[in-house]
This record gives sequence, structure tokens and C-alpha cells, in this order.
Amino acid sequence: SPTTNPLDLFDLDDQVGEEEHAIQRTVRELMDAQVRPHLAQWYDEAKLPARDLALELGKVGLLGMHLEGYGCAGTSATAYGLACLELEAADAGIRSLVSVQGSLAMFAIWKHGSEEQKQEWLPRMAAGEAIGCFGLTEPDAGSDPASMRTRAKQDGTDWVLNGSKMWITNGSIADVAVVWAQTEEGIRGFVVPTDSDGFSAPEIKRKLSLRASVTSELVLDDVRLPADAVLPDVTGLRGPLSCLTEARFGIIFGSLGSARDCLETALRYAGERDLFGRKLASFQLTQAKLADMTVELGKAMLLALHLGRLKDAGRITSTQVSIGKLNNVREAIAIARECRTILGAAGITLEHPVLRHANNLESVLTYEGTSEVHQLVIGQALTGESAFR
Ligand code: FAD
Repeated sequence: SPTTNPLDLFDLDDQVGEEEHAIQRTVRELMDAQVRPHLAQWYDEAKLPARDLALELGKVGLLGMHLEGYGCAGTSATAYGLACLELEAADAGIRSLVSVQGSLAMFAIWKHGSEEQKQEWLPRMAAGEAIGCFGLTEPDAGSDPASMRTRAKQDGTDWVLNGSKMWITNGSIADVAVVWAQTEEGIRGFVVPTDSDGFSAPEIKRKLSLRASVTSELVLDDVRLPADAVLPDVTGLRGPLSCLTEARFGIIFGSLGSARDCLETALRYAGERDLFGRKLASFQLTQAKLADMTVELGKAMLLALHLGRLKDAGRITSTQVSIGKLNNVREAIAIARECRTILGAAGITLEHPVLRHANNLESVLTYEGTSEVHQLVIGQALTGESAFR
């Protein structure tokens, strides 16, 4: 009998614990019940009911789920990865909402914040009552964040921030922004309430990718903050990069959700579509495509699970995260595009999820370190030579 989930062929169930399975199932059911039925409309209209969604996601403990304390669930890294997979099987925009909230904004405060900052923000963010964003990229500083121009100057005991950030997920809907800026001592992070005078976050419109996600510019025009707004425990690029490694880990699994959903759709479609008097699924070329995609998806899943176990053992390196992000996003986008061919013309509308996923993956390929940057990271580990500049 035909398979509905191509990953079943790999018999990976033993690789995942009971609790991790339960979390994965819960997320899948939540997506099926509350998100999937609305996605085509949200994507079409580029409108996401992010506040309501955040509350729902908070209720089931998905926000900052891999962090300990402050109202966070403290699950394994693998469980977090599997949750990201199911979120992205719905849409990468939903996974981005959760990644940015948990792995970028909350993680920055959790890892580098003061006790007061943690108490003030983390429990509300875990509950989805407060939304966070993470401002590192600027119009002229993406892959090279060290060249950022946003500056924080000390004025008496206050800090005054000036500059702008670009492509910031959750920006316009955030209650709090973690903003990275140049200071006399190097790059530092600031916890910026978004109702501060001089802060604004215009939304970026007309996106063709991640339309079910809010992406914004952040404008900081003489934003005055008290002395205790700075993240006390970190100086230099190490701060933001530590957060990005967290979020990238989620993408290693998340991207496979996009790919699996495309492959399931293509399998179903090929089984139903009649051509030349037989099923599309019965042609050799179609089966070769389905087989190759299944092999890549399974290999990528094995890599993700391996990296999950390394992270749970506290041993994962940032180079290994780069290997996972590079491979899994690259294979996911190839799978999404190939699945689109199996659907023919039917693949180009929002009636089916495949082109939506493929378009989303264009962003996923670029954010959290572009594929090229991850190639350079791996190249440097292999050769000892930095080819960045
Ligand atoms: P550039 O850095 O200008 O790169 C352009 C091209 O040059 C790429 O192909 C790149 O790989 C290549 N390149 C760069 N350097 C080298 C090199 N040394 N050698 C060879 N090739 C190179 N940022 C945030 O801070 N917070 C967010 O929440 C956030 N959300 C995002 C959401 C979306 C939908 C998108 C699209 C982006 C988001 N980003 C966010 C920004 C993202 O991280 C940047 O887009 C990314 O780092 C790349 O920067 P860039 O777009 O400026 O491209």
C-alpha cells in the first residue's frame, strides 16, 4: 500500500523519545486544527493574526520551549527541533514567529540578560503575552554584521540609540526589541521596549516570500534608555552570533517540515492525477523524482536527529550547525521546486502548499546566514583559511 509520510520508510521512531513524539504530535495537531485551514488566506492577504497565534503557541508551551526556568518548558533540543519541523510543515512564517521569539529574542535575554530583564520579559514572552524581535541586520550590513552603523552612546547614565535595522521578523508587532549597536566597547545588545520615544517599526510590504510573517524595518531616532537596558553579560559579535546558532538549529529541522509537506502533497497528487490513461504515480520518471526526494529528505532527517543529539549532549559546534543549515535548507528548496513540477499548473496557486513553501524557503536560504556564508564557514574549518574578506 502507498506511503503517506515518506519518512516512514526510514523507521526513525526509535530515534525519538516518547515525550519528544508527544510534543511533535501536539504541534502537528495544533497546526492542523488552527493554522493550516487559514494559511492560504493569510498568505494571499499577507496578514497574520500574530497576537492571537502567539497566545495559542504560548498556551501549549512552544515559546522558548528549550529554555529552563522563567515559565519556559525546558525540553530537549531535539524536541524543539521536531516542534520547528511541524510548525514549518504548516508554514515557515509560523516557524519564524516561534524561532525569533524563542531562539533570538528570549534566548538573548535568557543567556545574556540581567536577572531583572529576565524577570520582566521572559515569563510574558513564554506565555505569548509579549512578542519579541531581534534587530541585527541593517540595510547596509547583512552577512557582515560587524559593519553595522547603529550606535548607542552614553549620556550621563542613559544610553541613546540611533540607527536603523532591516528585515526584522516580528518588528511591527513586537513589544520588545533586542537591538544590537556599536558602543565604545564594541557591539552590545539593548532591551528596547517598542513604546520608547523615537522607536518605530514600519512593515515591509510586497514580499513574495514569507508572506504569513511580519517583516519590518526598525528606526531608532534618539531612543533614550536607562543604564540597565543593556545586556550586561556580553560584548562583541559573540552575543548576537550565540543567538543565531540557536535559531539556525531550529531551521535544520524546520526546513524539513516544508520539504515533507511538499513531498506528501506531491505523492497524494501523483496518486490521484490521471494522464495518458494511467496514474501520474505509475510513470518511471515520476517515481524517480519521488524516490530521489525521499532519499534526500531521509538523509537530511538523520543529519538533523544526529545534530539534535549532539546539542542535547552539549557538544554541538557552530560549524556543525552550519553543515545542517546549509544541507537541509538547500535540499528542502530543491524538493519543494521538484514537487511543484509534479503538480504541473496546479502547483502554482495557493490551492496547494508547494510553491508557498518553495517561496518561503528563498528567505530561509538567506536568513540566519546565507548558504554561501555557511559554505565559507565550513571551508574555513576544512582549510584553516578565512575566505570571508
Ligand atoms: P548580503 O549580505 O548583502 O549578501 C548578498 C549576497 O552576497 C548573498 O548571496 C551572500 O551569500 C553573498 N555574500 C555575502 N558575503 C559574502 C562573502 N564574503 N563571499 C561570498 N559571498 C558573500 N535579520 C535580523 O537581524 N533579524 C531578523 O529577524 C531577520 N529576519 C529576516 C526575515 C526575512 C524574511 C529575511 C529575508 C531576512 C531576515 N533577516 C533578519 C536578515 C537576514 O539575516 C539577512 O538578509 C542575511 O544575513 C543576508 O544579508 P543581506 O540580505 O544583507 O545580504
